[in-house]
Amino acid sequence: MWLPIKGARSPFLNSQRVRLLARWPHDFASSSPAVSATKSALQPSDPKLAAHSALAVECQHLTRRFGKIDALAGVSLNVRRGEFFTLLGPSGCGKTTLLRIIAGLDLPDSGGLRIGGVEALPLPAWRRPVNTVFQSYALFPHLSVSENIAFGLRMQRLDSHHIVRRTTSVMELTQIMPLAGRHPNELSGGQKQRVALARAIVNEPEVLLLDEPLGALDLKLRKELQLELQHLQKRLGITFIHVTHDQDEAMSMSDRIAVMSAGRVEQLGTPEELYEQPKTRFVAQFIGACNLFDGKFVSHTGNTVETETPLGLLRVELSAAGIDLAEQGQLSLGIRPERISLTGGEAGDNRLLGRVEEVIFNGAETHYRVTVDKAELRVTELNSGRRAIGLFPGDSVEVSVPPRNIFLLEG
Ligand code: ATP
Repeated sequence: MWLPIKGARSPFLNSQRVRLLARWPHDFASSSPAVSATKSALQPSDPKLAAHSALAVECQHLTRRFGKIDALAGVSLNVRRGEFFTLLGPSGCGKTTLLRIIAGLDLPDSGGLRIGGVEALPLPAWRRPVNTVFQSYALFPHLSVSENIAFGLRMQRLDSHHIVRRTTSVMELTQIMPLAGRHPNELSGGQKQRVALARAIVNEPEVLLLDEPLGALDLKLRKELQLELQHLQKRLGITFIHVTHDQDEAMSMSDRIAVMSAGRVEQLGTPEELYEQPKTRFVAQFIGACNLFDGKFVSHTGNTVETETPLGLLRVELSAAGIDLAEQGQLSLGIRPERISLTGGEAGDNRLLGRVEEVIFNGAETHYRVTVDKAELRVTELNSGRRAIGLFPGDSVEVSVPPRNIFLLEG
């Protein structure tokens, strides 16, 4: 049974919040090894239940308001055990607020939260089986790398052989053995982030929360660490919940992604699902590039609808989800730039007459801006090594759009 908080914040939770904040005044505190010092208290209240839950985290209609801002406006989602799950969205959409609520650093106004099948809202941060890695690293400056990592284990008064064994094994895993004796001020940003990660996983949390952990790093290092994080997660089998506003990062690392906007989950799915079947205009634009148009329903034959658009009449092949939408009269349509052809296309495609306005050669691809009537299309052609298309601004061109490559969108 869920233990939801409804309506007004209960006095218990308010006093809990005050105690929590008083005890852990900064983000630093939650990732502080001291948080993990009470490992015995970290165990879920019903370990049997936790062991059997296939879901690592369950959020049920979580809301959180700051003044007039709905940071979370009813977020429900489940994170499966052992998955790499990402909260993705633009700045201010509520990602960090949700992560902080899961970590126990903040409480929702209403809704329910379970971690490992156990009600988590009544538990303070230090009793939840989670650890957090912050963008700011939050390392103890006066301790060496190995001491930073071992600190939490020492606070649990574990036997010293055990501490050395676990600390060494985690340093090997995160490839920081050569840095063991250095202090944080002798490390680069990427090295500090590895140490913060090692310190978080040495406590073997059920869920690791990563708040933009790669945000402060340069692009090359970011790409390297993205791969490493992914490999590490698969090796450890710990559930990762990762927050980012970088869609490339989310797409390349995650098993599933929740795309958030204005305190809500717009769509939740695998990277492929979000790219191939975006449900809303927001998701279609946020994940990859997309040409968006309004359309008017004209006729319906089998699984194809004919629509009137600023590009002219377009036939759209419907997915099962599109059938209901097609009956709404006013439609929203999306076409990915690389799913449009300027080189002939296939039989059965929509064919439009366009004019090339701009050509940008980008090595692997060429990007075209093409006008069809008064509407504008962005088209991407892969430079596959064949003869170049040889199009220039001002040229007339036949634009082919397969009906199956147009999707209907909500909102
Ligand atoms: P970013 O990517 O910029 O970190 P985010 O998606 O993580 O953004 P949140 O930090 O969760 O967004 O903030 C969601 C909304 O709630 C924002 O409008 C933010 O200004 C507001 N907010 C968050 N924390 C507070 C607070 N303590 N007091 C007042 N407003 C807050």
